Amino acid sequence: MTTPWEVLFEFSTVKAYSVATKFTAMDILYECPECSKQRVAVWPFPDTIMEFVDNCCNKKVVFMPEKGSEEE
Ligand SMILES: [Zn+2]
Repeated sequence: MTTPWEVLFEFSTVKAYSVATKFTAMDILYECPECSKQRVAVWPFPDTIMEFVDNCCNKKVVFMPEKGSEEE
């Protein structure tokens, strides 16, 4: 199960991330799978899958790269 997301800033506003990743990092917007609250995350390498436990409701979120179909 993947988490829908959208681009918030193509270049992360978190400068440390941007610099550390040579500007591949971007900020994304998504909803908590549990309570639908809007959340923001930094995705350091958007061409690779990112997953972590969201500390909003301690639910796992999985972000798939944008490439290809977005159909679920
Ligand atoms: Zn939540």
